[in-house]
Parts: sequence; C-alpha cells; structure tokens
Amino acid sequence: MTLLLLAGTAEARDLAQRLAALPGVAAVASLAGATRHPARLPLETRIGGFGGAQGQRKWMQGNGIETVIDATHPFAAQISARTQALCAGLGVPYLRLQRPGWQAQPGDRWTRVPSLAAAAAAVPPGATVFLATGRQSLPAFAGRDDATVYLRQIDRPDAPFPRTRGDFIIGTPPFRAEEERHLFKRLGVDLLVAKDAGGPAGAKLVAARALALPVILIDRPPPPPGDVVTSVDAALAWLARVRPCD
Ligand code: NAP
Repeated sequence: MTLLLLAGTAEARDLAQRLAALPGVAAVASLAGATRHPARLPLETRIGGFGGAQGQRKWMQGNGIETVIDATHPFAAQISARTQALCAGLGVPYLRLQRPGWQAQPGDRWTRVPSLAAAAAAVPPGATVFLATGRQSLPAFAGRDDATVYLRQIDRPDAPFPRTRGDFIIGTPPFRAEEERHLFKRLGVDLLVAKDAGGPAGAKLVAARALALPVILIDRPPPPPGDVVTSVDAALAWLARVRPCD
C-alpha cells in the first residue's frame, strides 16, 4: 500500500517512525518546506508545496497514493481541507491526525479568541506582546503601532524586522518552560499570544502561568469532515482498518 503522510509536526515524526517499521506499507512523507533545515524523517520525503490542488491531484495519482494521513499542524487549514476534498474525489481514504487542544489549568489567565485579527484587537494599548503564532502573524498587528511586538521564528527572516518597536526572536522548538520564563522576563513581556496548537510541551503556557501573564489563545479552525483521530496509535488502528495488510 502506498501512503502519503502530510507532515510538519511532532506527531508526523512519531508516525513516520512507526510507518517505517510497518511491513506492507510504502509511505512517502511530504513537508511544505516552511523551515530551512527540517529534521529528517525516516521515510522517503518530498519537500515543497504541490503547486495547488491540481498539482497535488496529479502528484497523488502519479505516485499511486492509496491512503492519506494528514498530520499537519492543527492550524494548517488549507492543506487539510484541500486534501480531504481531493481524497473524497479520488476515492482515497483520508485521515486527519490532530493532537488535542490545550485545557486551561488553575492559575491560567487565558482569553480565547477566534482569529489572529481578534487577538490583535484584544491587546491592551501600549502592551509588550510575545507572538508565538508563526511567520505570517505580523500583518494582523499592522494597526497596532502602540504595541511592542516580539515574533518568534525558527529561521531568521532575510528582511529586517518591519516594526519600530520589537524584534524577531529566533528559536527552534521544543522550548523549556524555564527558558521561556527567562525570555519573557528579559523582554518585559506583558502578554502572550499563541495558537491553541496543543501537544505535550506548552512550555510558553507553563511559563506564562508561572509569571501570571495573560494569554490570548487563538482557537483552532475546525478539522475537515471525515475521520479524525488525536493520537498516533489511533492513526495506526485506523490504517489497519481501512487497509488491512496481508
Ligand atoms: P496551509 O496554509 O494549510 O497550506 C499552505 C500551502 O502550503 C498549501 O497550499 C501547500 O502548498 C503547502 N503545504 C502545506 N502543508 C504541506 C505539506 N505537508 N506538504 C506539501 N505542501 C504543503 O499550511 P501552513 O499553515 O502554511 O503550514 C505549512 C506547513 O507548516 C504545514 O505542513 C504545517 O504542518 C506546518 N506548520 C504550520 C503551523 C501553523 O501554525 N500553521 C505551525 C507549525 C507547523 P501548495 O498549494 O503549493 O501545494
């Protein structure tokens, strides 16, 4: 069986490891190419966008893809919606593997908002904000020149930081809560803005709790219709159901 694993998350890495050891499955991983030096996966890996829906359909057909597991980030809504629709059209089983979202604990000062724009609007005047929301987050803060914004990035962007107050903060996950705490204190952060990415670490949230910092947490988009699981074990059980190996 030839399987496409849409990757880009820790779960995708775990699943790649398990798939590599699974007899009867020829799995190919796909990365968007968003980071310059992605960790190697133990599977044949293609890197870069497919060039839109048509390109992806052609690639899937050309490579005889019979099953797709989508383990992209919970906020990678475009690729998930598109792949689900493509699979439905091609009659290929599609599974969304999406880790559970975070749950507030005692001491957390979270405000949930539906979007990055809503997060930008909810920032108090003149605040120093730590944005842990990814590369494309700055435009949402264009109307908030009063705020100082620190944006975490994995790779240092080629262009200089485009705002008068703030900077890029370069760092590669996973982060440790203690390091996050020191970082927030050093930067004088008043507020953390994060996506409800889920996952075991949540170090920035642990640090925010320890410092009693308010957090604006952006809700995740709904998953595409169809089969959704929240763990690698459940993904493998799904695979055994849809494509029993000899
Ligand atoms: P997106 O908005 O859903 O997709 C944007 C485009 O990126 C897609 O149209 C596709 O390009 C390409 N793409 C996305 N995932 C791909 C994959 N696994 N293999 C090949 N092409 C892929 O996604 P995004 O939010 O930009 O995220 C891009 C990647 O970074 C995802 O794979 C995701 O897992 C990872 N990531 C995202 C976040 C986040 O917060 N969004 C955080 C951490 C990691 P074409 O149209 O050219 O095919």
